[in-house]
Amino acid sequence: MRQTRIKKTKTVCTFCGVGCSFKVWTKDRQILKIEPVEDAPVNSISTCIKGKFGWDFVNSEERITTPLIRKGDQFVPATWKEALSLIADKMGSIKKKEGGDAVGFISSSKITNEENYLMQKLARQVFGTNNVDNCSRYCQSPATDGLLSTVGYGGDAGTIRDIAGAGLVIIVGANPTEGHPVLATRVKRAKKLNGQKLIVADLRKHEMAERADLYLHPKQGTDFVWITAVAKYIIDQGWHDEEFIKARVNNYQEYLQLLQRYTLEYAEKVTGISKEQLIETAKMIHEADGTCILWGMGVTQNTGGSHTSAAISNLLLITGNYGRPGAGAYPLRGHNNVQGACDMGTLPAWLPGYQPVTNDEDREKFEQAYGASIPAQPGLDNIQMLEAIEEGKLKAMYLVGEDMAWVDSNANHVHEILSKLDFFVVQDVFFTKTAQFADVILPAAPSLEKEGTFTNTERRIQRLYQALDPLGSSMPDWWIIREIAKAMGADWDYEGPSDIMDEIASLCPSFAGVSYERLSGWNSLNWPVQEDGTDTPLLYSEQFNFPDGKARLSLVDYVPPVNMAAEFDLVLNNGRLLEHFHEGNLTSKSEGIQYKFPEVFVEVSRKLAKERGVKDGSLVRLLSPYGRVKVRALVTDRVHGNELYLPMHSASHQHAVNLLTGNAVDVRTNTPAYKQARVRME
Ligand code: SF4
Repeated sequence: MRQTRIKKTKTVCTFCGVGCSFKVWTKDRQILKIEPVEDAPVNSISTCIKGKFGWDFVNSEERITTPLIRKGDQFVPATWKEALSLIADKMGSIKKKEGGDAVGFISSSKITNEENYLMQKLARQVFGTNNVDNCSRYCQSPATDGLLSTVGYGGDAGTIRDIAGAGLVIIVGANPTEGHPVLATRVKRAKKLNGQKLIVADLRKHEMAERADLYLHPKQGTDFVWITAVAKYIIDQGWHDEEFIKARVNNYQEYLQLLQRYTLEYAEKVTGISKEQLIETAKMIHEADGTCILWGMGVTQNTGGSHTSAAISNLLLITGNYGRPGAGAYPLRGHNNVQGACDMGTLPAWLPGYQPVTNDEDREKFEQAYGASIPAQPGLDNIQMLEAIEEGKLKAMYLVGEDMAWVDSNANHVHEILSKLDFFVVQDVFFTKTAQFADVILPAAPSLEKEGTFTNTERRIQRLYQALDPLGSSMPDWWIIREIAKAMGADWDYEGPSDIMDEIASLCPSFAGVSYERLSGWNSLNWPVQEDGTDTPLLYSEQFNFPDGKARLSLVDYVPPVNMAAEFDLVLNNGRLLEHFHEGNLTSKSEGIQYKFPEVFVEVSRKLAKERGVKDGSLVRLLSPYGRVKVRALVTDRVHGNELYLPMHSASHQHAVNLLTGNAVDVRTNTPAYKQARVRME
């Protein structure tokens, strides 16, 4: 694609789950500007700093531009033919000798729906294994689990625009101002213009918490308790929606039993939130015309993350807050395509479109389409794959778009494990920390250099168009996955992402009416999409996604945070900052963003700083049972007492938070309990 003129291409931002779309102006490889337009379905004319200025990484000199093959301690450039035949040879012989379950596949929410679909197909059809997962295991799997078990779909109940119609928004364990900026703007606007009320529950008093009508500061990992106590108080006061429960909800009597111990006194003791504040919360829900609850990793990355997500859904159910605009559950997806990666079946227990591998009818449909046998049991998730490598059961891994050596918890241990693989293929845009452990590194093209679709946090599927040619010999992920399958003998003849989407639509009732034609330009569709193209911006208006159409109150209980030795006396909270994306491996290559935000820091409360003699800007060492980092202190009122906050973006990897996080996981989904880290400070 030769360019000499200015070209304007519609694309979709990859930096968070809001999924803004805009025109990118390019001339040759130069990015001239980002132009938001009225037609953009989510954001209209707004973007945040990342969406506006975070794209020059595509021209970074650090891009991988050719396949690389390990020779001893070195990586040497190779042709695609050499790299693909080595992969087919090595992975083929491991499959032959050890079986398909000796191979693991890790996909990513940085890649498109079509690419995620092909990843799971490669695992299931070509290797005959369900060992396929994606990076939502590190973040929002607990939210999906909590929603699937209560209302039947693992996605946001309505659209982002619908949130503006709520009388009350409750944000739990999330910082949308920095994590989901354009969505945060909508909440702020609704508060100012419509008098919408806002409750924020978070360890950190961030900007959104400052704006809240009520700020709750729960002890770390205790959200389940205060949410359930509020539900009990609402029922005790007779403020629940009896009619809604009677008509649309199962398990109510059993749920009442579960609630018994969640008194206000118990909740105050466990969470540290006063009885008065809990009553005020219940009252605000009772008085509001519609409540939306938004939550993030502060909830999910805990040992009880899935239980708390279910408790949130329970609270919405007993108050009748589902099935109408301005009400419902909104888990905030971190990357643009967290929702899509899961929808496409890069999950060990789910085929595309949330069709369980354990359901014979669903599985047989895919077996027939793929002409291959698929195991009837779920495969290994990301965390279990690491355990299996350690045990010598998993021999080879193919990982796309995820720097798991830094994003997985207890990074030092992960590094040891990755070095034990017999054969490891890493596919990425940059030479990541994880790539250092690879045998073959494949150069992938980022979103501006390819076509495809992403699905944002509100289940909205949008097309992105190719603005630039792939740099050097890098290729779109769908092309690379297709070529690996072909090198392994599969008969894959997709000419482009649109062919792949047609296959997805033919196999998944939720996407039956999705096609590139219907998604052309600024058009978008919120799944489920019927065959005639009717989409579903609002879920549950008539029924919940269970055979009897009724929701199910979850009967799970509180899971307390893990205990730690007393010497690790400080709670280490962690999360995002506005300027950076995830671990920073894209935005840290963006000159402007890196200039504005060159180094991470740890936030220390004034009280703690005084006690320990820490001055603003001084260097401190944080030590956990798993590792240590040295980082500059920022003394601030945003954090309280013995709580610290360390952003997760560590471009230089010197202060990577996951050198400190441990091995505890959510009890249902294995999502690491990143938020339950404890450290001591020197
Ligand atoms: Fe929109 Fe999120 Fe991208 Fe910012 S990072 S432009 S809020 S999608």
